[in-house]
Amino acid sequence: MNQTAKIINQAKKEDRKTLLETEAKTICAEYDIPVNKFQLAKSEKEAAAYADEIGYPIVLKIVSPNIIHKSEAGGVKVNLKNAAEVSVAFKTIIENAKKYKADAKIVGVLVQEMAPQSTEVIVGAIKDSQFGQTIMFGLGGIFVELLKDVNFRVAPLTTEDAKEMITQLKAFPLLNGYRNTPPADIDALISIICNVSRLVMEQPEIKELDLNPVMAYPKGAKTVDARIILE
Ligand code: ADP
Ligand code: MG
Repeated sequence: MNQTAKIINQAKKEDRKTLLETEAKTICAEYDIPVNKFQLAKSEKEAAAYADEIGYPIVLKIVSPNIIHKSEAGGVKVNLKNAAEVSVAFKTIIENAKKYKADAKIVGVLVQEMAPQSTEVIVGAIKDSQFGQTIMFGLGGIFVELLKDVNFRVAPLTTEDAKEMITQLKAFPLLNGYRNTPPADIDALISIICNVSRLVMEQPEIKELDLNPVMAYPKGAKTVDARIILE
């Protein structure tokens, strides 16, 4: 767990509670939580070069310790199809960030592989004052925000716990295949939930973790946004 300890120590040294998406995803990858390919670009030119390397379509995102909700700040551009579009989006994202928070420290722009659209799920972890590390699972968007259709379990979790968190959702039929939508890979989701449980149990410095969204596919799953907050 080399990277994880290094990242957490560095943030502590800087007196920074929120990890950057790059840092959170590096930690995820170290705990076998699948994330999309990404590279941090410091300039428009670098962004275009990384995009060519990763392959199109591309997503660009602002990386700033002062901007937590990136889309709210106009800091996310998806489905960029070539280097010219990447260059334009790079400039727009930086401008939007400055408009959103004039004094925001801008680390760069994250160039990432665009994950194909699919059913979006959320995996979260919080430290409850009474129960300690607690894991959350639900479907994305209105299912969490409006319908509060989420399940919580106290960590550490067994595979069986993780499976129940998924199958006991009211919206489970949406994951289990309906009409033209094929069933999601439940084992891939179970593995992510269990790895998140292991991560927060092994790293008690983590106060909050949010994988939102995770794309659930018929084969596999991929985390496209990760947020970690330290104690
Ligand atoms: P934030 O939650 O900070 O606003 P996200 O990284 O979650 O920013 O991006 C906003 C939305 O853009 C996501 O909910 C997802 O639908 C989409 N998105 C972000 N990154 C990707 C990606 N790499 N591939 C596909 N879609 C993405
Ligand atoms: Mg998000």
